[in-house]
Amino acid sequence: MLKFGGTSVGSAELVARVADLIVEATTTHRVVVVVSAAAGVTNELVAAWDALQQGTLDMPALLARLRQRHRALAQVLSGHAALRRSYLATLEETLVRLARLLEVARHDPDPAWRDEVLAVGERLMAPLLAAVLRARGVAAFAQDAIALICTDAQYGEANVDLEATRERVQRWFARVGRHTVPVVTGFIGATPEGRTTTLGRGGSDYSAALLAALLGAEVLERWTDVDGLYTEDPRKSPDARRYQTLVLEEAWAWNHAGKLGMHRKALDPLVAAGIPVHIRSTLAPERPGTWLLPADAPQSLAG
Ligand code: ADP
Ligand code: ASP
Ligand code: MG
Repeated sequence: MLKFGGTSVGSAELVARVADLIVEATTTHRVVVVVSAAAGVTNELVAAWDALQQGTLDMPALLARLRQRHRALAQVLSGHAALRRSYLATLEETLVRLARLLEVARHDPDPAWRDEVLAVGERLMAPLLAAVLRARGVAAFAQDAIALICTDAQYGEANVDLEATRERVQRWFARVGRHTVPVVTGFIGATPEGRTTTLGRGGSDYSAALLAALLGAEVLERWTDVDGLYTEDPRKSPDARRYQTLVLEEAWAWNHAGKLGMHRKALDPLVAAGIPVHIRSTLAPERPGTWLLPADAPQSLAG
């Protein structure tokens, strides 16, 4: 299981690099990918929702920014005209749906509409990454997590129904071809009635952990913009030191205390299932990163 955060897919160059990392992983492993919205896109959608409520949203400007950002990301498909055209069509359809959604929500500030708006970033990214993988000759498809992650209706930070999710995930994965790479939208779930929910900011870490646990993954590789977990946030503390390995259960407790920069629930499913995590930098993939190893795991993993 590979998870790429928004900072890992923030530019066309990075999307290309991520696709290379995935292709390399497919040479030795069966791979499932979870991806976030491009860096900044979810913040933009949150700001758009707030502006809509205050009556100050400039909708054409919002749509133009999202179009321009994703067209720039889709440059990674230059040389693959049909794939690029197909992605740009998806982009336009998604923007049309977003515009309609914002029109409805202007008169009906139901929090369910907010989650539907926030989910747009992941819904724009997963099809792009799947297309880039296809351009590299890998069978890949984008999978909207509304079909996989079953939640309650606590919009903004929905709670996952593990048993319902397990059933859906296992039934879904049984139909995925052995050499096919699903690219799943992080952050998103759905109520039993099929309304989109979100798992809370930074929720793609949790999505990836859930899928890794339910599929019995060998490892969750969490690719981000720093080369591991540090004693403190390395962007704020220059003296922060990187951990080479941590005991997963200990990291779980620190993460619940907000010390590791991941979604609060991100390690819960992994502790329960005993699945190791390798945190690595997309910007420096050659670095060793940080291993989170279940207490009873063979230490040789962190070679
Ligand atoms: P992504 O786009 O990959 O989801 P995030 O911004 O959500 O990235 O998470 C990575 C960030 O987490 C790092 O850039 C870092 O600033 C922050 N962070 C906070 N605490 C820590 C920590 N203890 N160790 C490493 N990174 C941390
Ligand atoms: N895109 C979502 C967010 O910005 C989820 C994530 O990045 O994990 O919160
Ligand atoms: Mg994140």
